[in-house]
Amino acid sequence: MSELVESIREKYLATLERIALAAKKAGRDPEVVKLVVVTKSQPVEVVRAAIEAGAQILGENYPEEGVMKIQSLHEFSAVEWHMIGHVQSRKAQLVAGNFNFLHSLDGLKLSKKLDRFCGEAERSLPVLLEFNVGGEESKGGWPAWDETRWHELSSELAEVFALPNLKVRGLMAMPPLGETAGFSRPFFQKVKRLQEFLTVQFPQVDFSELSMGTSMDYEVAVEEGATFVRVGTAIVGVRKYTTETT
Ligand SMILES: *Cc1c(COP(=O)(O)O)cnc(C)c1O
Repeated sequence: MSELVESIREKYLATLERIALAAKKAGRDPEVVKLVVVTKSQPVEVVRAAIEAGAQILGENYPEEGVMKIQSLHEFSAVEWHMIGHVQSRKAQLVAGNFNFLHSLDGLKLSKKLDRFCGEAERSLPVLLEFNVGGEESKGGWPAWDETRWHELSSELAEVFALPNLKVRGLMAMPPLGETAGFSRPFFQKVKRLQEFLTVQFPQVDFSELSMGTSMDYEVAVEEGATFVRVGTAIVGVRKYTTETT
């Protein structure tokens, strides 16, 4: 095993261990929490090393960069590629044709385009709806910071749920960056409440997955109900500078 693989493996296993401990602490089954190793802005060699170190789900933020890696590493056919970053509508075809899962579905227009391209490719795409629970303008997602206005989302979301080729599986959120992991907790709790709200509103839709938590706060996210955590730097190190823009 190369030094790079070994060092990633150590951090990957330690992260799994901490996920399991956080789940047990909260009385949850550790088996339901899936670890997405975020490799955005990392070179292909680092992604390859992450796979060799055991990573089974890789998270990418930029469609072209992700597709290049998917093609370069196609021999690892068991690996799942998850798009976790904002997708512009004009990149919908790339995402629909190449990724296994989309965490960051954040608009009706994008949903309709993805649905159409999935239909043309005879695929279906599992998706999570991204919600903006912190109210920051820089963040994507349907506006959900004001709980008294959640019902206003219903008619647009109903249109998303009616699209035949998008398989809704749950919710995703990225809280505002805080100084401590505990800062994220109320935001994760809000996502959990939104999950319960939507489950009552749309009993026919599956909202069982919650994608929340990054390197700095994934244990808190697991305590609050995450089923996917998205961890990058804590496993594969700091990101290289990238010139790609979305
Ligand atoms: C980059 C990124 C992550 C991972 O962040 P780290 O701090 O490197 O763990 C998780 N989720 C999203 C949406 C990201 O863009």
